[in-house]
Amino acid sequence: MPVRFAPHTAMDPLKVCLVSSEVAPFAKTGGLADVSAALARHLQKRKHDVRLFMPLYRRTKREHELTPVPELQDIAMRCGERTYYFSISTAKLPKSPFKVWFVRCPELYDREGIYTQDQDEHIRFALLSRAALEVCQWTQWAPDIVHANDWHTALLPLYLRTLYAWDKLFARTRTVLTIHNIGYQGIVAADKLRDLGLEAEKRFLYQEDLNEGRINFLKTGILYAHALTTVSRTYAQEIQGDEHGMGLQHLLRQRTENLFGIVNGVDYEEWNPRKDPLIPERYSERDLRGKEACKQALCEKLGIGYDARAPLIGVVSRLTAQKGFELLPDILPVLLHRADLRLVVLGNGEERYENYFNWLAGAFPKKVAFRAGFDNALAHWIEAASDMFLMPSRYEPCGLNQMYSLRYGSVPIVRRTGGLADTVAPWNAATGEGTGFLFDDFTPEALFGTLQAALELWRDEGAWQRLVQNGMAQDFSWEHQIGQYIELYQRLVPPR
Ligand code: ADP
Repeated sequence: MPVRFAPHTAMDPLKVCLVSSEVAPFAKTGGLADVSAALARHLQKRKHDVRLFMPLYRRTKREHELTPVPELQDIAMRCGERTYYFSISTAKLPKSPFKVWFVRCPELYDREGIYTQDQDEHIRFALLSRAALEVCQWTQWAPDIVHANDWHTALLPLYLRTLYAWDKLFARTRTVLTIHNIGYQGIVAADKLRDLGLEAEKRFLYQEDLNEGRINFLKTGILYAHALTTVSRTYAQEIQGDEHGMGLQHLLRQRTENLFGIVNGVDYEEWNPRKDPLIPERYSERDLRGKEACKQALCEKLGIGYDARAPLIGVVSRLTAQKGFELLPDILPVLLHRADLRLVVLGNGEERYENYFNWLAGAFPKKVAFRAGFDNALAHWIEAASDMFLMPSRYEPCGLNQMYSLRYGSVPIVRRTGGLADTVAPWNAATGEGTGFLFDDFTPEALFGTLQAALELWRDEGAWQRLVQNGMAQDFSWEHQIGQYIELYQRLVPPR
């Protein structure tokens, strides 16, 4: 399905319907939440007419004040054997006049986590996608763009071509699918077709998959979205190759002309050491004393020995294989024995990594602290307190923490992959340019060499200062990045 871009239309405000399973601060497990919120906020700032839909999860309901929309209550939706009823409530996105639209369906979303292993996980997100379209219908709001994010909402382009194709409201609607992480594809058994409302539309699905008994949400989205984006230029290339394509590389290569890499922006309203309310002392690139105070306070809070001369390495991450932590056991104990450094890790995820970091903290109680769980305030504090920030990712679609680290004067030590490659420039001693340290091979030796280089430079106070200042001067704000999305939308929309 080749997409022809229409010539630029007039700069009319666009109607953009964003649909996402996570939106910060209402529900977040990773970068998707930050990006959805920022897209909405910045599109609206540029005077576009935006609606952002997400599920009303149990925790969101508990922690945020919501206003029901009286005319959008108890709307029936049939999903296979069952009929579900959903209602819409809204809540204001902090620091913005923007209101998020919540799809309330307690039967599906009133559960402990955002994601589940439950049998109806596919229905939870199919309903979200369809509810967004049905609310457009109920309110007679014709979106120029429907923007889906990751596998959860990747059926939207297909829904618009099938179940909702009869409605002229969507005649001019174009679709964008952003792949935030190709590692999660939403693969379900083919007998779920009925639940998805797609039983009569089998011919639109990827036949080979159907024959093998499965449906792949993300793959379907890649097939039908008018345009695909992913969250960095390097990742856009990588996912077309065998190493990172996770089985979708062939399809992505077929759609290469419609696949764009747009690096995520940073919300400097939230991540800014000059005014961050979540850190004990604020600071700027001109005066870093507050940063040192944050470091001391964090060491004291976590019970590890503070020493201004010992660099503190920070890690804030989901604990999954993607993040590359299996490189650590071979090298960290050696480094911790040899060098006077501190390590603070905040992460939640797989037990094997939690066990490892717990063990490490037990083995080096004065040098290593580990906190399991999701803790936004502590994440901010670690950024502010650390001298170096470690991201040895196996793959990294964009990565936000390295950009936060740059702004907080915490030097990123990262693998040269995906967005890490696009946003961290290697330190060059000869020119004094660069913002961090990068390594290529996914091996403990490569990481070890890079960590040693960083620890060596740490001892050169002048050079280190320069490196920190270079990083703090970087600007990855959404003000820059949002323009690329708007331009893409405008190219997709047919001329009036
Ligand atoms: P990913 O989306 O793959 O998890 P990103 O670097 O793009 O990685 O985004 C991670 C986001 O989630 C950042 O805002 C980071 O601060 C936050 N984060 C990750 N793990 C935790 C945690 N355990 N506690 C608090 N924040 C976390």
